[in-house]
Amino acid sequence: MFWSCYLTLGPRNDDNFWRDGYLCLLQEATTAGMATINSAKQETRRILRRLKADYPEVTCALKHESAFQLLIATILSAQCTDERVNIVTADLFAKYPDAAALAAAPLKALEKIIQSTGFFRAKAKNIKACATALVERHGGKVPASLDELVTLAGVGRKTANVVLGTYFGIPTGVVVDTHVSRISQRLGMTSHTDPVRIERDLMATLPKKEWINFSHRVIHHGRAICKARKPACDVCSMEKFCPRIGVKA
Ligand code: SF4
Repeated sequence: MFWSCYLTLGPRNDDNFWRDGYLCLLQEATTAGMATINSAKQETRRILRRLKADYPEVTCALKHESAFQLLIATILSAQCTDERVNIVTADLFAKYPDAAALAAAPLKALEKIIQSTGFFRAKAKNIKACATALVERHGGKVPASLDELVTLAGVGRKTANVVLGTYFGIPTGVVVDTHVSRISQRLGMTSHTDPVRIERDLMATLPKKEWINFSHRVIHHGRAICKARKPACDVCSMEKFCPRIGVKA
């Protein structure tokens, strides 16, 4: 590329030659980078159109009646299916419907109720500590702020994004769960496997207003069509343009 710049600039022997060559190189690199970003955005628009047509109405699969319940359900959903969490939270929220009640609950009683969600000792400790912090620092309410949410026990960026996006309608990021991670790789929307990097790639190409529902739609698609072991590409609406990266023939 440098020599194409050299030819463009012509043979020169002055002090500015290397500087001009560098600037030219930088400009070409920037132009190439912009072209890549534009084409990624075009692809993304195509994916969004299909997802919206296939899953026009989407909601969070975790049952909840308040921000507090969504927060606790999301903490429990780590390494567990939403269906299992919904079964467990029906019982949990009947006994402890809000932060004050959960904060006062005996740890052993919590462990017993949530046992089937896996990692139950750590999860019980976290939801009790989280509820206690909500009572002590936030008057029992869930704060609508990413910075405050991630200070709560058991709450990482993904959980905070779920609560802020789904309950408060605030797009602070893209929720990257196992379905979003797998499908965005298969569709070529990211080349990364690390959720933080995947989220960064998705945030760079998806319009901000789509951040919340994109994840909901992809999760639905992952459950219905683009399954982990055997994606049903023959009935997928994106089959014509999906590069199916990592999918075995
Ligand atoms: S074509 Fe196959 S791999 Fe691509 S999104 Fe559809 S089901 Fe998934």
